[in-house]
Amino acid sequence: MRPMLARRSLLRSAALCPLCAPLTAPLGAALGATLGASAARASGGAHWGYEGADGPEHWAALSPEYRACTAGTEQTPIDLAAGIPAQTGRIGFAYHPQPLQVVNNGHTIQVNVAPGSMMAIGETGYELLQFHFHHPAEHLLAGKAAAMECHFVHRSPAGALAVAGVFLQPGRVNAALVPIWKAMPVAAGPVQAVAGVTVDPAALLPRDRTYFRYMGSLTTPPCSEGVLWTVFRDPVALAPEQIRAFAALFPMNARPAQPLGRRFLLESGV
Ligand SMILES: [Zn+2]
Repeated sequence: MRPMLARRSLLRSAALCPLCAPLTAPLGAALGATLGASAARASGGAHWGYEGADGPEHWAALSPEYRACTAGTEQTPIDLAAGIPAQTGRIGFAYHPQPLQVVNNGHTIQVNVAPGSMMAIGETGYELLQFHFHHPAEHLLAGKAAAMECHFVHRSPAGALAVAGVFLQPGRVNAALVPIWKAMPVAAGPVQAVAGVTVDPAALLPRDRTYFRYMGSLTTPPCSEGVLWTVFRDPVALAPEQIRAFAALFPMNARPAQPLGRRFLLESGV
């Protein structure tokens, strides 16, 4: 019975996660529209942030629902150092271009994804629900944080969550981000459907698919565990102006690195 219970509690927690809006989209959108409140409040969780009394070290104290943020032993992000070389198996992506739907949920800029974009890990297909951004990066690479990190959040038919992380480093203009940056709302609010604008999540994946793999958690309250993480070693580029534009809205929305503990960190293809 325990795995069932664990899965149910993960699903329930995921429904409260402000970064998992598609799971509660009709409710969230309805509340957002009627109350004009931030998506964070509309999702029903207690308020949280990245500094001061609402900061990461206090998340667990803000709500009983956020207990795992402190009590959990398999938390995300971590420092990706000394990965164990392993045959980690196949990972495949079939992401499709789609009309842009973007939301400022008070914690990040998130792009909601239409059904049908998939990530395959081994024999399991995970559907892409949304992707969003952190500044600076949440995972560290041998102790160092990249400028930003993008998280692609997926769910399997059985309800398991799998997130793919991509680092973003200063370089040339990232064309795939241009329409998103142009449309990103400066204040928290309901989802914006941007007419006539297409976004292609596949264009945000690095060409080299060497990755780190471990079991972790959501990086935001309720910090639910049982999330399968894949983080690509190679970054994709974005222009310094693109970093500055995001940082103007979110100067710091990265949770500090958590202990690896007894987990194994695997690295593919090395
Ligand atoms: Zn994230």
